[in-house]
Amino acid sequence: MEAKTLGILGGGQLGRMSAMAARKLGIRTVIYTPEKDSPASQIAHETIVGAYEDRESLEKFSEKVDVISYEFENIPVETVEYLTNFKPVYPEKNVLEVAQDRIREKSFLNSIGIATARWEEAKNAKNVDNIVEKWGKTSCILKTARFGYDGKGQSHYTLGDDLDATWRSLNSDRIIVEEIVDFTSEISVIVGRDRFGKTVTFGPMMNEHKRHILHKTTFPADIAAPIAAQSIAMTEKLAQQMNLRGVVTLEMFVTKDGQILANEIAPRTHNSGHLTIDACDVSQFEQHVRTVCGLPALNPSCRPAEMLNLIGDDIKIIPGYEGKPGTFIHLYGKLESRPGRKMGHITMLKKPA
Ligand code: AMP
Repeated sequence: MEAKTLGILGGGQLGRMSAMAARKLGIRTVIYTPEKDSPASQIAHETIVGAYEDRESLEKFSEKVDVISYEFENIPVETVEYLTNFKPVYPEKNVLEVAQDRIREKSFLNSIGIATARWEEAKNAKNVDNIVEKWGKTSCILKTARFGYDGKGQSHYTLGDDLDATWRSLNSDRIIVEEIVDFTSEISVIVGRDRFGKTVTFGPMMNEHKRHILHKTTFPADIAAPIAAQSIAMTEKLAQQMNLRGVVTLEMFVTKDGQILANEIAPRTHNSGHLTIDACDVSQFEQHVRTVCGLPALNPSCRPAEMLNLIGDDIKIIPGYEGKPGTFIHLYGKLESRPGRKMGHITMLKKPA
């Protein structure tokens, strides 16, 4: 059965753009968020403002919707578990659990034959030097197991640095040591999978970061065709193995010798897929809404394009892009611009090569 009303946990820009896609499909959306006047609630039909732990409000939310999804992965698993008592939640709990915790995530990826950078759980600060030396290296990246994104919850460490201070700064007791990858590019692939098990793909996208935040995405990624095909196969395999219903993104590194190493799973639409709104006949957001609401995933047809993120004061560059052919400016309705805050993006269609 197809859902007529979609509930979305989280009120950010990803929820906003999914709500826009839902409107196009004639599907109502109800947002559940702790934040008043969120970017998503400006578009949705209704919003419930409540904490993710507030069971009474969660139950009220569930009564208003046919199916539930989420727009970011730091929703407590308990919230999803509780809501499942009332309505289906997609992607399901197992996907969220894997994506929320780097140790589970990397163990899962490795268990299904997807390579990652060499990693090991540190257990305590004393272990870090041993692991780095065992690998024959002099430096590494320390990452918290949970709540890391856009470079938060990670720190570069070189033997001889003040390890205790680095460890304390991460403010976590579950930390992994990860090998530094000498990559030539960072790419991502987005896969939608519907209730019939059909998968559809966007990408690979080529991603450039500034201060750990996505700055620019280019589609198609300028990489060799076999590497592109392999990155798609890896992400499709991930979606199948998780028995996904919804959308998942795999962020990957391409190394100098052409190896692909998975870095992170996002159980949702992704910043690198924003260009699909203007460059594809079916966007990642439409695919998200379609798959969780029980509609079939559609094979997208995409044109080459480039996306620039507008972070904080970057919104000042907008006048230089206004009115240019093939250029689409998107703003997320955030009232205040702050450093590091994603305010909007610009997509520029490119001529096919
Ligand atoms: P993450 O929070 O794991 O997505 O990492 C954010 C960014 O940090 C990535 O997009 C990379 O640019 C960089 N990074 C993360 N892990 C590594 C690694 N093992 N080696 C080199 N760069 C990394």
